[in-house]
Amino acid sequence: MNERPHLTGFTLTGLTEFLPTLGEPAYRGRQIFSALQHRRLLSFNEMSDLPKALRERLRETATASTLTVESRYVSEDGTRRFLMKTHDNLPVETVFIPEERRDTICFSSQSGCPLQCTFCLTAQLGLLRSLTPGEIVEQIIVALNDAYGVGEKPPRGTNLVGMGAGEPFLNFDSLLQAIRIMAEPQGLFIVPRRVTVSTAGVVPRIRDLATIHDRPNLAISLAAPTDELRDVLMPINKKWPLEELLAVCKEFEQTLKPGERFTFEYVMLDGVNDSDEQARQLANLLNRYDLHAKVNLIPHNSAAPLPYQPSPATRVEMFKAILESKGIHSFVRKPRGRDIFAACGQLAAVTQTVGVITNSSVGLEQL
Ligand code: SAH
Repeated sequence: MNERPHLTGFTLTGLTEFLPTLGEPAYRGRQIFSALQHRRLLSFNEMSDLPKALRERLRETATASTLTVESRYVSEDGTRRFLMKTHDNLPVETVFIPEERRDTICFSSQSGCPLQCTFCLTAQLGLLRSLTPGEIVEQIIVALNDAYGVGEKPPRGTNLVGMGAGEPFLNFDSLLQAIRIMAEPQGLFIVPRRVTVSTAGVVPRIRDLATIHDRPNLAISLAAPTDELRDVLMPINKKWPLEELLAVCKEFEQTLKPGERFTFEYVMLDGVNDSDEQARQLANLLNRYDLHAKVNLIPHNSAAPLPYQPSPATRVEMFKAILESKGIHSFVRKPRGRDIFAACGQLAAVTQTVGVITNSSVGLEQL
Protein backbone atom coordinates (compact mmCIF):
# COMPACT_ATOMS: atom_id res chain seq x y z
CA MET A 1 0.00 0.00 0.00
CA ASN A 2 1.08 3.54 -0.60
CA GLU A 3 -0.43 5.86 1.96
CA ARG A 4 2.10 8.67 1.60
CA PRO A 5 0.75 11.82 -0.10
CA HIS A 6 1.42 11.79 -3.84
CA LEU A 7 2.63 15.32 -4.44
CA THR A 8 2.14 15.14 -8.23
CA GLY A 9 -1.59 15.29 -7.49
CA PHE A 10 -1.37 18.53 -5.48
CA THR A 11 -2.29 21.91 -6.89
CA LEU A 12 0.16 24.78 -6.51
CA THR A 13 -1.92 26.12 -3.61
CA GLY A 14 -2.16 22.66 -2.11
CA LEU A 15 1.63 22.31 -2.06
CA THR A 16 2.21 25.76 -0.60
CA GLU A 17 -0.17 24.72 2.20
CA PHE A 18 1.34 21.27 2.61
CA LEU A 19 4.98 22.28 3.12
CA PRO A 20 4.27 24.36 6.25
CA THR A 21 2.77 21.20 7.82
CA LEU A 22 6.31 19.79 7.57
CA GLY A 23 7.69 22.95 9.17
CA GLU A 24 8.96 24.26 5.84
CA PRO A 25 8.25 27.67 4.30
CA ALA A 26 5.48 27.92 1.71
CA TYR A 27 7.90 28.88 -1.07
CA ARG A 28 9.33 25.36 -0.92
CA GLY A 29 5.89 24.23 -2.07
CA ARG A 30 6.17 26.43 -5.14
CA GLN A 31 9.65 25.07 -5.81
CA ILE A 32 8.45 21.48 -5.58
CA PHE A 33 5.43 22.20 -7.78
CA SER A 34 7.70 23.58 -10.47
CA ALA A 35 10.14 20.67 -10.13
CA LEU A 36 7.32 18.15 -10.57
CA GLN A 37 5.17 19.88 -13.12
CA HIS A 38 7.50 22.13 -15.08
CA ARG A 39 10.80 20.23 -14.95
CA ARG A 40 8.78 17.00 -14.85
CA LEU A 41 11.05 15.39 -12.26
CA LEU A 42 9.46 12.31 -10.77
CA SER A 43 11.92 11.79 -7.92
CA PHE A 44 12.82 14.11 -5.04
CA ASN A 45 16.47 13.07 -5.40
CA GLU A 46 16.75 14.94 -8.68
CA MET A 47 15.45 18.20 -7.21
CA SER A 48 18.94 19.53 -6.60
CA ASP A 49 17.72 23.02 -5.74
CA LEU A 50 16.20 21.64 -2.53
CA PRO A 51 18.39 21.14 0.55
CA LYS A 52 19.49 17.53 0.92
CA ALA A 53 17.77 17.19 4.28
CA LEU A 54 14.46 18.29 2.80
CA ARG A 55 14.80 15.85 -0.09
CA GLU A 56 15.32 13.06 2.42
CA ARG A 57 12.41 14.22 4.52
CA LEU A 58 10.19 14.25 1.44
CA ARG A 59 11.31 10.77 0.48
CA GLU A 60 10.23 9.51 3.88
CA THR A 61 6.92 11.33 4.16
CA ALA A 62 5.64 11.72 0.60
CA THR A 63 6.05 10.40 -2.92
CA ALA A 64 6.57 12.03 -6.32
CA SER A 65 5.76 9.03 -8.46
CA THR A 66 3.48 6.06 -7.93
CA LEU A 67 3.24 4.61 -11.45
CA THR A 68 5.78 2.22 -12.97
CA VAL A 69 6.04 1.70 -16.70
CA GLU A 70 5.75 -2.04 -17.35
CA SER A 71 5.82 -1.98 -21.14
CA ARG A 72 6.06 0.53 -23.89
CA TYR A 73 4.82 -0.28 -27.38
CA VAL A 74 5.63 1.80 -30.46
CA SER A 75 3.33 1.62 -33.48
CA GLU A 76 4.46 1.83 -37.09
CA ASP A 77 2.60 5.18 -37.23
CA GLY A 78 4.64 6.59 -34.32
CA THR A 79 1.91 6.18 -31.68
CA ARG A 80 3.24 4.94 -28.34
CA ARG A 81 1.28 3.00 -25.76
CA PHE A 82 2.44 2.84 -22.16
CA LEU A 83 1.21 0.07 -19.96
CA MET A 84 1.85 1.14 -16.39
CA LYS A 85 1.06 -0.27 -12.97
CA THR A 86 -0.25 1.57 -9.93
CA HIS A 87 1.34 1.01 -6.51
CA ASP A 88 -1.38 -1.58 -5.88
CA ASN A 89 -0.54 -3.35 -9.12
CA LEU A 90 -3.43 -2.27 -11.34
CA PRO A 91 -3.05 -1.48 -15.03
CA VAL A 92 -3.07 2.12 -16.30
CA GLU A 93 -2.72 2.85 -20.00
CA THR A 94 -1.72 6.01 -21.77
CA VAL A 95 -1.27 6.68 -25.47
CA PHE A 96 0.95 9.30 -27.08
CA ILE A 97 -0.12 10.23 -30.61
CA PRO A 98 2.24 12.47 -32.60
CA GLU A 99 0.64 14.56 -35.33
CA GLU A 100 2.08 17.12 -37.69
CA ARG A 101 1.02 20.21 -35.81
CA ARG A 102 0.45 18.89 -32.31
CA ASP A 103 0.75 15.86 -30.09
CA THR A 104 -2.22 14.26 -28.44
CA ILE A 105 -1.99 12.31 -25.21
CA CYS A 106 -4.88 10.00 -24.43
CA PHE A 107 -5.07 9.36 -20.71
CA SER A 108 -7.07 6.96 -18.56
CA SER A 109 -9.36 8.07 -15.76
CA GLN A 110 -9.93 4.65 -14.24
CA SER A 111 -8.14 1.33 -14.13
CA GLY A 112 -10.57 -0.81 -16.12
CA CYS A 113 -14.12 0.49 -16.56
CA PRO A 114 -17.50 -0.32 -14.97
CA LEU A 115 -19.52 0.41 -18.13
CA GLN A 116 -20.21 -2.60 -20.24
CA CYS A 117 -20.15 -1.22 -23.75
CA THR A 118 -20.21 -4.35 -25.88
CA PHE A 119 -17.83 -2.96 -28.54
CA CYS A 120 -15.07 -1.89 -26.15
CA LEU A 121 -12.25 -4.10 -24.96
CA THR A 122 -11.68 -2.13 -21.76
CA ALA A 123 -15.13 -3.25 -20.58
CA GLN A 124 -13.74 -6.76 -20.20
CA LEU A 125 -11.55 -5.64 -17.33
CA GLY A 126 -14.46 -4.44 -15.24
CA LEU A 127 -13.78 -1.57 -12.86
CA LEU A 128 -10.59 -2.09 -10.89
CA ARG A 129 -10.65 1.38 -9.33
CA SER A 130 -10.77 5.10 -10.13
CA LEU A 131 -7.43 6.85 -10.52
CA THR A 132 -6.28 9.64 -8.23
CA PRO A 133 -5.48 13.14 -9.55
CA GLY A 134 -1.76 12.33 -9.17
CA GLU A 135 -2.13 9.15 -11.22
CA ILE A 136 -3.85 11.10 -13.97
CA VAL A 137 -1.23 13.89 -14.07
CA GLU A 138 1.66 11.44 -13.86
CA GLN A 139 0.51 9.71 -17.06
CA ILE A 140 1.02 12.97 -18.96
CA ILE A 141 4.46 13.56 -17.41
CA VAL A 142 5.59 10.02 -18.28
CA ALA A 143 4.42 10.37 -21.90
CA LEU A 144 6.04 13.80 -22.40
CA ASN A 145 9.33 12.74 -20.80
CA ASP A 146 9.43 9.64 -22.97
CA ALA A 147 8.76 11.60 -26.15
CA TYR A 148 11.06 14.56 -25.54
CA GLY A 149 13.32 13.85 -22.58
CA VAL A 150 12.86 14.84 -18.96
CA GLY A 151 11.69 18.44 -18.69
CA GLU A 152 12.35 19.23 -22.38
CA LYS A 153 9.83 21.63 -23.85
CA PRO A 154 7.52 19.88 -26.34
CA PRO A 155 8.18 21.33 -29.81
CA ARG A 156 4.49 21.27 -30.71
CA GLY A 157 1.36 21.97 -28.72
CA THR A 158 0.00 19.21 -26.51
CA ASN A 159 -3.65 18.26 -26.58
CA LEU A 160 -5.12 15.89 -24.03
CA VAL A 161 -8.05 13.57 -24.49
CA GLY A 162 -9.74 11.73 -21.65
CA MET A 163 -10.60 8.81 -23.91
CA GLY A 164 -8.44 6.07 -22.43
CA ALA A 165 -9.68 3.42 -20.05
CA GLY A 166 -12.54 4.32 -17.76
CA GLU A 167 -15.47 6.67 -17.60
CA PRO A 168 -14.06 10.08 -16.65
CA PHE A 169 -17.41 11.35 -15.37
CA LEU A 170 -17.52 8.57 -12.78
CA ASN A 171 -14.29 10.04 -11.40
CA PHE A 172 -15.32 13.65 -11.79
CA ASP A 173 -13.61 15.34 -8.83
CA SER A 174 -10.23 13.73 -9.45
CA LEU A 175 -10.52 14.52 -13.14
CA LEU A 176 -11.21 18.20 -12.47
CA GLN A 177 -8.41 18.40 -9.93
CA ALA A 178 -5.97 16.90 -12.48
CA ILE A 179 -7.14 19.35 -15.14
CA ARG A 180 -6.63 22.24 -12.71
CA ILE A 181 -3.08 21.08 -11.91
CA MET A 182 -2.16 20.65 -15.57
CA ALA A 183 -3.45 24.11 -16.48
CA GLU A 184 -1.07 25.88 -14.08
CA PRO A 185 1.25 28.29 -15.98
CA GLN A 186 4.10 27.38 -13.60
CA GLY A 187 3.65 23.71 -14.42
CA LEU A 188 2.65 21.72 -17.49
CA PHE A 189 0.55 24.68 -18.66
CA ILE A 190 -1.89 22.62 -20.69
CA VAL A 191 -5.02 24.76 -20.54
CA PRO A 192 -8.55 23.27 -20.37
CA ARG A 193 -9.35 24.30 -23.92
CA ARG A 194 -6.64 21.88 -25.08
CA VAL A 195 -8.31 19.08 -23.14
CA THR A 196 -11.28 17.03 -24.35
CA VAL A 197 -13.12 14.66 -22.07
CA SER A 198 -15.35 11.94 -23.46
CA THR A 199 -18.31 10.51 -21.60
CA ALA A 200 -20.66 7.63 -22.30
CA GLY A 201 -23.41 9.92 -20.99
CA VAL A 202 -23.39 10.47 -17.22
CA VAL A 203 -26.17 13.07 -17.37
CA PRO A 204 -25.80 14.73 -13.92
CA ARG A 205 -22.09 15.37 -14.49
CA ILE A 206 -22.75 16.90 -17.93
CA ARG A 207 -25.10 19.27 -16.13
CA ASP A 208 -22.37 20.02 -13.58
CA LEU A 209 -19.81 20.67 -16.30
CA ALA A 210 -22.16 23.21 -17.84
CA THR A 211 -21.76 25.38 -14.72
CA ILE A 212 -17.96 25.26 -14.60
CA HIS A 213 -16.05 28.22 -15.93
CA ASP A 214 -12.61 26.81 -16.82
CA ARG A 215 -13.71 23.53 -18.25
CA PRO A 216 -12.43 21.02 -20.77
CA ASN A 217 -14.12 20.42 -24.10
CA LEU A 218 -16.84 17.80 -24.07
CA ALA A 219 -17.37 14.75 -26.27
CA ILE A 220 -20.34 12.41 -25.96
CA SER A 221 -20.26 8.80 -27.14
CA LEU A 222 -23.51 7.96 -28.92
CA ALA A 223 -22.95 4.73 -30.90
CA ALA A 224 -26.64 4.34 -31.74
CA PRO A 225 -29.54 6.51 -32.94
CA THR A 226 -32.28 4.67 -31.00
CA ASP A 227 -32.73 3.58 -27.38
CA GLU A 228 -33.45 0.07 -28.53
CA LEU A 229 -29.99 -0.33 -30.02
CA ARG A 230 -28.15 1.89 -27.54
CA ASP A 231 -29.52 -0.14 -24.63
CA VAL A 232 -27.72 -3.14 -26.10
CA LEU A 233 -24.44 -1.47 -27.16
CA MET A 234 -24.07 0.87 -24.18
CA PRO A 235 -26.04 -0.40 -21.17
CA ILE A 236 -25.59 2.99 -19.44
CA ASN A 237 -28.41 4.04 -21.78
CA LYS A 238 -30.88 2.18 -19.58
CA LYS A 239 -30.02 4.54 -16.78
CA TRP A 240 -29.83 7.73 -18.87
CA PRO A 241 -31.72 7.18 -22.16
CA LEU A 242 -31.24 9.30 -25.28
CA GLU A 243 -34.05 11.70 -24.45
CA GLU A 244 -32.40 12.71 -21.16
CA LEU A 245 -28.93 12.69 -22.65
CA LEU A 246 -29.76 14.88 -25.62
CA ALA A 247 -31.81 17.26 -23.50
CA VAL A 248 -28.82 17.87 -21.23
CA CYS A 249 -26.57 18.17 -24.30
CA LYS A 250 -28.81 20.99 -25.50
CA GLU A 251 -28.53 22.69 -22.09
CA PHE A 252 -24.77 22.30 -22.30
CA GLU A 253 -24.62 23.61 -25.86
CA GLN A 254 -26.35 26.77 -24.75
CA THR A 255 -23.49 27.49 -22.33
CA LEU A 256 -20.72 27.10 -24.96
CA LYS A 257 -18.25 29.94 -25.15
CA PRO A 258 -16.36 30.96 -28.29
CA GLY A 259 -13.57 28.50 -29.07
CA GLU A 260 -15.05 25.64 -27.05
CA ARG A 261 -15.57 22.35 -28.80
CA PHE A 262 -18.48 20.01 -28.29
CA THR A 263 -18.65 16.80 -30.32
CA PHE A 264 -20.46 13.52 -30.59
CA GLU A 265 -18.62 10.26 -31.21
CA TYR A 266 -20.17 7.45 -33.15
CA VAL A 267 -18.29 4.16 -33.41
CA MET A 268 -19.11 2.51 -36.74
CA LEU A 269 -19.95 -1.19 -36.42
CA ASP A 270 -20.39 -3.15 -39.62
CA GLY A 271 -24.04 -4.10 -40.16
CA VAL A 272 -25.04 -2.98 -36.65
CA ASN A 273 -25.36 0.83 -36.57
CA ASP A 274 -24.16 1.96 -40.00
CA SER A 275 -27.14 1.74 -42.39
CA ASP A 276 -28.59 4.62 -44.44
CA GLU A 277 -31.72 4.43 -42.32
CA GLN A 278 -29.66 4.75 -39.11
CA ALA A 279 -27.80 7.74 -40.55
CA ARG A 280 -31.16 9.42 -41.20
CA GLN A 281 -32.37 8.52 -37.70
CA LEU A 282 -29.23 9.99 -36.17
CA ALA A 283 -29.50 13.21 -38.16
CA ASN A 284 -33.21 13.55 -37.32
CA LEU A 285 -32.51 12.92 -33.65
CA LEU A 286 -29.84 15.62 -33.41
CA ASN A 287 -31.95 18.01 -35.44
CA ARG A 288 -34.96 17.36 -33.21
CA TYR A 289 -32.93 18.63 -30.25
CA ASP A 290 -31.50 21.41 -32.40
CA LEU A 291 -27.95 20.28 -31.64
CA HIS A 292 -25.18 21.70 -33.78
CA ALA A 293 -22.28 19.62 -32.50
CA LYS A 294 -20.13 17.83 -35.04
CA VAL A 295 -20.22 14.02 -35.20
CA ASN A 296 -16.90 12.16 -35.21
CA LEU A 297 -17.31 8.82 -36.95
CA ILE A 298 -14.87 6.26 -35.54
CA PRO A 299 -14.42 3.04 -37.53
CA HIS A 300 -14.48 0.23 -34.99
CA ASN A 301 -11.12 -1.05 -33.83
CA SER A 302 -11.55 -4.78 -33.71
CA ALA A 303 -10.08 -7.05 -31.12
CA ALA A 304 -10.40 -10.81 -31.07
CA PRO A 305 -13.00 -11.29 -28.30
CA LEU A 306 -15.34 -8.57 -29.63
CA PRO A 307 -18.12 -9.69 -32.00
CA TYR A 308 -17.86 -6.65 -34.31
CA GLN A 309 -16.11 -5.56 -37.46
CA PRO A 310 -15.40 -2.02 -38.63
CA SER A 311 -17.78 -0.60 -41.22
CA PRO A 312 -16.18 -0.58 -44.69
CA ALA A 313 -14.81 2.81 -45.79
CA THR A 314 -17.48 3.22 -48.47
CA ARG A 315 -20.22 2.66 -45.87
CA VAL A 316 -18.67 5.25 -43.55
CA GLU A 317 -18.55 7.74 -46.44
CA MET A 318 -22.20 7.08 -47.31
CA PHE A 319 -23.22 7.49 -43.66
CA LYS A 320 -21.30 10.75 -43.52
CA ALA A 321 -22.91 11.99 -46.76
CA ILE A 322 -26.39 11.36 -45.36
CA LEU A 323 -25.58 13.24 -42.15
CA GLU A 324 -24.15 16.14 -44.15
CA SER A 325 -27.19 16.22 -46.43
CA LYS A 326 -29.31 16.82 -43.33
CA GLY A 327 -27.06 19.58 -42.06
CA ILE A 328 -25.03 17.56 -39.55
CA HIS A 329 -21.29 18.12 -39.86
CA SER A 330 -19.23 15.00 -39.47
CA PHE A 331 -15.65 13.90 -39.60
CA VAL A 332 -14.12 10.44 -40.02
CA ARG A 333 -11.50 9.81 -37.39
CA LYS A 334 -8.38 8.03 -38.59
CA PRO A 335 -7.44 5.17 -36.29
CA ARG A 336 -3.97 5.39 -34.75
CA GLY A 337 -1.85 2.70 -33.15
CA ARG A 338 -4.15 -0.23 -33.97
CA ASP A 339 -1.14 -2.53 -34.39
CA ILE A 340 -0.10 -2.03 -30.76
CA PHE A 341 -3.61 -2.13 -29.21
CA ALA A 342 -3.49 1.61 -28.62
CA ALA A 343 -6.58 2.67 -30.56
CA CYS A 344 -9.98 3.65 -29.10
CA GLY A 345 -11.57 0.79 -27.22
CA GLN A 346 -8.46 -1.36 -27.37
CA LEU A 347 -6.99 -0.50 -23.97
CA ALA A 348 -7.30 -3.61 -21.91
CA ALA A 349 -3.83 -4.16 -20.56
CA VAL A 350 -2.94 -6.33 -23.52
CA THR A 351 0.60 -7.49 -22.90
CA GLN A 352 1.12 -9.47 -26.10
CA THR A 353 -0.99 -9.77 -29.21
CA VAL A 354 -3.21 -12.12 -27.24
CA GLY A 355 -3.75 -12.30 -23.51
CA VAL A 356 -6.12 -9.74 -22.09
CA ILE A 357 -6.14 -9.43 -18.32
CA THR A 358 -9.77 -9.99 -17.37
CA ASN A 359 -11.72 -9.40 -14.23
CA SER A 360 -15.32 -10.08 -13.34
CA SER A 361 -17.30 -7.03 -14.34
CA VAL A 362 -18.93 -4.64 -11.95
CA GLY A 363 -22.54 -4.03 -12.94
CA LEU A 364 -24.12 -0.66 -13.57
CA GLU A 365 -26.19 -1.06 -10.41
CA GLN A 366 -23.00 -0.67 -8.44
CA LEU A 367 -22.06 2.70 -9.93
N1 SAH B 1 -15.89 6.10 -21.26
C1 SAH B 1 -15.71 7.22 -22.11
C2 SAH B 1 -14.29 7.40 -22.65
C3 SAH B 1 -13.58 6.19 -23.21
S1 SAH B 1 -14.00 5.57 -24.78
C4 SAH B 1 -16.70 7.19 -23.25
O1 SAH B 1 -17.41 6.20 -23.37
O2 SAH B 1 -16.82 8.16 -23.96
C5 SAH B 1 -13.49 6.70 -25.98
C6 SAH B 1 -14.24 6.51 -27.30
O3 SAH B 1 -13.85 5.30 -27.94
C7 SAH B 1 -15.74 6.43 -27.11
O4 SAH B 1 -16.37 7.28 -28.01
C8 SAH B 1 -16.06 4.99 -27.44
O5 SAH B 1 -17.37 4.86 -27.93
C9 SAH B 1 -15.01 4.65 -28.46
N2 SAH B 1 -14.74 3.22 -28.57
C10 SAH B 1 -14.80 2.28 -27.62
N3 SAH B 1 -14.44 1.08 -28.11
C11 SAH B 1 -14.12 1.27 -29.40
C12 SAH B 1 -13.62 0.42 -30.42
N4 SAH B 1 -13.37 -0.87 -30.18
N5 SAH B 1 -13.37 0.97 -31.61
C13 SAH B 1 -13.58 2.27 -31.84
N6 SAH B 1 -14.02 3.13 -30.91
C14 SAH B 1 -14.29 2.64 -29.71
